[in-house]
Amino acid sequence: MTSANGAEMQIALAGIGTIAKAQHVPSIAGDPDWHLAATLSRNGRIADVPGYQSLDAMLAAHPEITTVSLCLPPVPRFAVAAEALIAGRHVMLEKPPGATLSEVRYLADLAQANGVTLFTSWHSRAAQMVPAAKAWLAGKTLRKLRVTWKEDVRHWHPGQAWIWEPGGMGVLDPGINAISIVTEILSEPIHITSATLEVPENAQTPIAADLQFWHPSAEVSMVCDWRQEGDQTWTIEAVCDDGQMVLADGGARMIVDGTEQLADGPDDGEYPRLYKQMADLVRAGRSDVDLAPMRHVSDALALGHRITVAPFED
Ligand code: NAP
Repeated sequence: MTSANGAEMQIALAGIGTIAKAQHVPSIAGDPDWHLAATLSRNGRIADVPGYQSLDAMLAAHPEITTVSLCLPPVPRFAVAAEALIAGRHVMLEKPPGATLSEVRYLADLAQANGVTLFTSWHSRAAQMVPAAKAWLAGKTLRKLRVTWKEDVRHWHPGQAWIWEPGGMGVLDPGINAISIVTEILSEPIHITSATLEVPENAQTPIAADLQFWHPSAEVSMVCDWRQEGDQTWTIEAVCDDGQMVLADGGARMIVDGTEQLADGPDDGEYPRLYKQMADLVRAGRSDVDLAPMRHVSDALALGHRITVAPFED
């Protein structure tokens, strides 16, 4: 069915909070393939878009909706995702795709059983220079890779209680973005060998983390910290036998041996790229379920040595 605005695909957005408003709504609006037909949220609304508080009611009122994109926090996401898949709708998941690996595996099976698409999106992989970094590393012998992911939680996640609760992942919620890039650009397998997690005395999840990974030829490590004020740092530095590469600003910039690299084309933005990917997956009748970033975070939480630090006050 084609909508009034000519878009081929009718989509609903669930969990109208920070990222839905900042990225999903404008990306859908700017993509001629998609039309935002309705939203599902207890409190959040988008002007001029019908809003619902239950998936059932939304799908009953809008049978034309074929895709549901979920921006809820990871813990409450599973129930809505499962219901949408069982109702025969394609599902796109914000990162991290769920609270546990097992529940997302189950969602993948449900998608297959119902003949619909499941897309576990990783927005940082859609950053402008990630493909160039992957191409630069291909065939080189990596000796060292250092991730530094330091940002101010009060600026990026004000008032979000869920990030401090079990399943919220704490600083590994942004940290998983770095891991999603690392697992995309490295062709070799890695796994966590040790982790230190600094957990505020009034929280269940870490405010800072230091991770070490096994890699066949390189020393691979990552530090992430949510207490960084002023300049924010989202950097991946790679040292190879024949050169050095820095992926900066979360993957938006790439510097090779000290020289800034030019992008191939204009920066379309991470989320517009994700919605193009989703449209391609739906048209091709395929799913894209990559749990690697989440596996490493689960392993860090399983192996992590916890240090209790000062309570966090928002
Ligand atoms: P948020 O601002 O807290 O919004 C999430 C929305 O989900 C809430 O506004 C809430 O809307 C709904 N919700 C339903 N059940 C909930 C529950 N039990 N607890 C809390 N909210 C509930 O979160 P967000 O920052 O948009 O993050 C959502 C997802 O996007 C996370 O997985 C996060 O990792 C990812 N993400 C966030 C950012 C960012 O910078 N914030 C960037 C990229 C990706 P109602 O009250 O209306 O139901």
